[in-house]
Formats: sequence, structure tokens, C-alpha cells
Amino acid sequence: MTAGDVQRLDETAHETRVPLLDLTAWRETHGIVAGITARTGEFDLGLASLESTKAVTARWRAFFAEMRPAFSGFVMSFHAHRATIASYGPDTKGWVIGDGLDGHATTDAGILLMVPVADCVPVYLLHPPTNTLALLHAGWRGIADGILESGLASVAELSGDPRPSEVIMHCGVGICGDCYEVGHEVFEAVTGSAVSGRVKLDLRVALTDRARRAGVGTITATQWCSAHDRDRFFSHRRSGGTDGRMVAYLGRPRG
Ligand SMILES: [Zn+2]
Repeated sequence: MTAGDVQRLDETAHETRVPLLDLTAWRETHGIVAGITARTGEFDLGLASLESTKAVTARWRAFFAEMRPAFSGFVMSFHAHRATIASYGPDTKGWVIGDGLDGHATTDAGILLMVPVADCVPVYLLHPPTNTLALLHAGWRGIADGILESGLASVAELSGDPRPSEVIMHCGVGICGDCYEVGHEVFEAVTGSAVSGRVKLDLRVALTDRARRAGVGTITATQWCSAHDRDRFFSHRRSGGTDGRMVAYLGRPRG
């Protein structure tokens, strides 16, 4: 299930009132909160959930309660499966929901970047010298459209450091190559390699290959697969489109 020969870094349970899986290493080494909500208790945060708005909103309130007071701005978007990224400054407060964005970036503490996912890969980018952060929603369309390259460009711009070698990247919980069969046109759009018929596509391997080409200094990937591990996560593909959504999150707590 791992993404090629990339170093493994798994999200692990973080004891809170809501189900959070954290990248403990980022918290301990960099003071950065990064992770993803788990399925536990059917903790669906999907804004297009089949459940009642009341139930979904109650979970969001519980999630925000857990993240305060370290964070006072919470940003996300309805996705377009493209490569558009927004950045956020210190005046960002409350729950900000954009439209047409697949990535968010900031250098400020107190802002929690979020992307809803259920098979698409959340990509966490960190430039440690400046605490510049970007969180990307990377499905096949976004990868083909250059979401990773857009994310790296945002980090370079916000940090003022053009060297991708200084960037740390983690490919989080998404569907693995064994579980994700696609048409040849999808494979070709993502990898640039010609194939025929239906083939397996590993989004994390595709992201890793692109990151290496871009010169990213450190790349890690989770072992978790949203479909293999559907008892723990939501999977759009494995559920036939009925599953809920996790929320991947990334931010630097206020001091
Ligand atoms: Zn899998």
C-alpha cells in the first residue's frame, strides 16, 4: 500500500473528543498540527452528506471546539478538481468556505487549512524555516492539472524561498494503487505514460514522482488506504459514492 520507495509516516490516533489521526512527528518536530479526521462513530463532515444538516453541523462544531483556541480561522472550499490555490493572511477569522479552490496556503499561526477527502489524497506541504504551509486536494484531475506544482509555487511565493529542496511533503490518507482502477486516458493524463485498457493508478506514486522532478527535499507517505481501511476511513470508490467525507487539516497553533 505504500507509495513506492518513499519513507513511510503514518497518522496515528490523537486522544480527543472527536476522531483525529495526527502526524505526531510534525507536531513534535515542527510544532505543526497536521492530520485527518477518522470515520470512527461515522464522523462524516461532508457538506454534501446524505445525512441531515443538523447532524453534520454538530460534528463540525465538535471539530472546531477541539481545535480552538489554537485556531480561530478555518478555511476550506468546494473543490473544482483543478489547480487553483488561495492564500490567507492574519485577518482570516471564523469558518471561511470558498468555491473552486483545491488548495490553501498561509504563513500565519492560528489558521487551520482544511480539505474534505474520501479517496483523493491530501498533500501537506511545509517550509520549516518560515512555517509556510499549504494543504492540497489531489485527485487525478487536480494532479493532471498541476495542483502539486501550484502548491509548490504558492509555498515559494509566500516563503520568499524558491528552493523546493527546503520543502517537506507528506501524502496523506487516500486510495491506494491496488484499489484504484482507471481508464487509460486517466492514467495518461496523470503520468504522461501511454497504456491501454483499464489499469491501476497509484495517486501517491504519481505525486511522489512529480515532487521528485520538482526537487522537493523530503517526501513521506502514509500507509493507510481509504478503501482498504474503510472501517477507519470513508471511501467514495469503495462505497459506490455513498460514503461521507473526512477532513484533512494543517495549521500552526497560535503561540
Ligand atoms: Zn487500497
